[in-house]
Amino acid sequence: MTAFTDLPLKPALLASIQALGYAAMTPVQAQSLPPMLAGRDVIAQAQTGSGKTAAFGLSLLQSIDPETIRLQALVLCPTRELADQVSKAIRKLAANIPNVKLLTLCGGMPLGPQLASLSHDPHIVVGTPGRVQEHLKRGSLHGGGIKVLVLDEADRMLDMGFAEAIDDIVGRIAKHHQTLLFSATYAQEIRAVSARVQRDPVDVTIETPASQAPAIEQRFVMVEPAQKLDALAQLLTAERSGAAAREQALVFCNMRKDVDAVAQELDRRGFSALALHGDMEQRDRDEVLVRFANRSCAVLVATDVAARGLDIVALPLVVSFDIAHDPDTHTHRIGRTGRAGETGLAITLVTAREKPKADNIEQVLASALPWQALKIGPARGKLLQLAPMKTLVIDAGRQDKLRPGDILGALTGDAGLAAKDIGKIDVFATRAYVAISRDLANKALERLRAGRIKGRNFRVRSLG
Ligand code: AMP
Repeated sequence: MTAFTDLPLKPALLASIQALGYAAMTPVQAQSLPPMLAGRDVIAQAQTGSGKTAAFGLSLLQSIDPETIRLQALVLCPTRELADQVSKAIRKLAANIPNVKLLTLCGGMPLGPQLASLSHDPHIVVGTPGRVQEHLKRGSLHGGGIKVLVLDEADRMLDMGFAEAIDDIVGRIAKHHQTLLFSATYAQEIRAVSARVQRDPVDVTIETPASQAPAIEQRFVMVEPAQKLDALAQLLTAERSGAAAREQALVFCNMRKDVDAVAQELDRRGFSALALHGDMEQRDRDEVLVRFANRSCAVLVATDVAARGLDIVALPLVVSFDIAHDPDTHTHRIGRTGRAGETGLAITLVTAREKPKADNIEQVLASALPWQALKIGPARGKLLQLAPMKTLVIDAGRQDKLRPGDILGALTGDAGLAAKDIGKIDVFATRAYVAISRDLANKALERLRAGRIKGRNFRVRSLG
């Protein structure tokens, strides 16, 4: 069974599925939705990109009764970025059910506005464990009516030290609820959490057929510490000039300060590179994610935790500037490339001191690591590392009733740009981002400054 219409779903949900253009269920959905809709607990091994969000989103929306003003579904996520993404996905699925109230409650955000929006119980809360626990403790959030608890990316939540918070939350919500646990990896600790919080769960593991298995080519490169940056620049340039031009790359560093240093150095060398880590203001982080997703950043340098928020289906190239501390993290990193039929390349730089970590990975892989010799030569003349797009920011957003169509209209009007030169448009509460073909970005900027958007003049700037 792969058709959504075979499932006992509310017509409003089937309508959303159709509007989203989902023709058939993904394997995770096909295996997990029937038991979830039957009320069973489910533990599913599912990666980002597998369609897991829609799987638990549909299931929880099927369970809630919008006419009862009570918290009925709680989704716990490891990061704010993921919580935002999950909230967005559930809102889309709920688009045809009137009056569903969903709140996103994450740490790192001021408490006041969250308390204000909790004056009436939402039906659904999506949040990070620490903050959700805090609200339950304070009594600003009421867990007594929860029917469905979702643990999304449970392995990451454990990595981030949220095990205790999760246990405490489970102790504070309705005793009888359904628990849906999603995790990319099935470590022993995940089994232990499942045993603590689930009842007779249905186990969903998707065997990826060899023909569909993502093709990931791994390479390990031995470098001197002082050569790491040259090696990185060379690898990025070389891989970019190949026949299959690799337009974007994700570079991992183990420490935040190195993320900044590497991004700055790449920028100095002419790459469209940006840094992403947890020390940054939320607004700056959002901006970086927008710029990477709309292709105006070619190289994103990030810590493992920060990279979790990336909603990019398949990156052509992933580089570990520092080798991951453990094999699990390494597996997560390389899993960011080569999804669903696309070939990906994962390169890991290794210094002599880091060699034991490579040996650990080798043991887990149970096969010899593919080492590659790299001769570091003089930098090439041609700059292939510029992103194809550039981002313009408009200091107006949803609060000004600005919609993507208004921006598109202002840019494509008479004597304007062709639609093909305009990329992704993201509208936030108070600002909007639009990607423009790099060569035409200045022209677009002038046009937006000279003209009007929706009959008004807003401040517009170009980023980078
Ligand atoms: P996720 O694994 O939840 O991060 O989802 C990955 C992407 O797949 C999201 O962009 C979804 O909108 C999309 N998606 C989810 N379910 C389906 C489906 N049945 N058919 C096509 N796309 C889907």
